Amino acid sequence: MKKTVTAFILLIICLLAAASMTSCGDTQDADVETTPPSETDENTPPPSETPPEDTTETPAPPPTPELNLVPYDGVVEHLFFHEVIAWPELAFNGAYTQKGYDDNMVTVHEYVKILESLHRKNYILVDLNDVWSEFINEKGERRMQRNTLMLPEGKKPIVFSYDDLSFYEYMTGDGFMEKYIIGDDGDVWATGIDPKGNRVISQDFAAITILDKFVRENPGFSLGGAKGCIALTGYQGILGYRTQFDKDNDTQQARLNRMTEIARVRPVVQRLKETGWYFATHSYGHINLERMSLNGVMNDAHRWLDEVGSLVGETKLFIYPFGSRLDGNDVWSTGPALEFYVGLGFRVFASVGREPFSRIKPDITAVMLDRMNSDGYTLRNRRERFMRFYDAQEIFDPMRPTGPGYEVDW
Ligand SMILES: [Zn+2]
Repeated sequence: MKKTVTAFILLIICLLAAASMTSCGDTQDADVETTPPSETDENTPPPSETPPEDTTETPAPPPTPELNLVPYDGVVEHLFFHEVIAWPELAFNGAYTQKGYDDNMVTVHEYVKILESLHRKNYILVDLNDVWSEFINEKGERRMQRNTLMLPEGKKPIVFSYDDLSFYEYMTGDGFMEKYIIGDDGDVWATGIDPKGNRVISQDFAAITILDKFVRENPGFSLGGAKGCIALTGYQGILGYRTQFDKDNDTQQARLNRMTEIARVRPVVQRLKETGWYFATHSYGHINLERMSLNGVMNDAHRWLDEVGSLVGETKLFIYPFGSRLDGNDVWSTGPALEFYVGLGFRVFASVGREPFSRIKPDITAVMLDRMNSDGYTLRNRRERFMRFYDAQEIFDPMRPTGPGYEVDW
């Protein structure tokens, strides 16, 4: 553990500066993210929009401020999710997509139980942007440092990130909601088609709105209203809106559709940012960074900034698709692709691993992280490792598939 306390503190009362390095060099595991490939089929017309219905739900009172804050320099846990499965009977219907959903996703049933368990075990959500910051060292170099977090006594910090919240086209009809929308109350809701074919507008069937609701009901689960990091690709738009530019379908109608989608997603992004959510790049095309040429990496980055960064604003966070790292192994070496991304302003680079590993790079303004995958694979195969968060046996959705290829190790 290395510690560097700085004199100037810009993070107001909450954050003192301290750099730290956690152990665990083994960053890769069988648990590497295996999200679906990046077929860039961009020709499907945008789904039709349905205005939100009235809701009778009244907003919860604002969080009570916690007064007894204590400094914390220990490990910041980091779990990541994908969009949650709203209707398991559709996701687990025996189709070719079933195995991928079983491996990579949790169901609403499991997700709610995960939140309840983490809250019970005294975890508190913190904003990843508050965990690390830049400083200038004695040589005049800009480097990253770990901040000392100020937490309510007895609480343990945890970061959530969410990959691929785009409602990709292949997921349509497979038991997921379709998009996030703004309700008449000005809040974020989600809409989709339920198994009976009825349109649903709800806050109970999608990852973002379920967490929003949980924090409203349990304000002690979030430090200052922090929610999660939304890691977005761009090749099929964002958050259920087909905002991508398709050069093969550059008609006037396609441009108009795209402008409409962009206009519709903007208030959703705005409301998410107002309510503790923040964004990361997940590359434009869900590319495999290890295999991509430097030129390919650069083109992908510019396209993300043009089409997604222009909608979600600046971010210094990069969540690696497939967990594959820039230049092959940017934890221990620094190559041209990492230098390029740091030059664009990115500072925090997160992959997937067994533990919430972190390493501050000594030679460049960057910190390397690993996140732990909260998904069906680890529910089935990594119960012990996740026991500090939740017990897979208690939360496992009985609607998950059974039989060969769908065993559990507990
Ligand atoms: Zn992904």
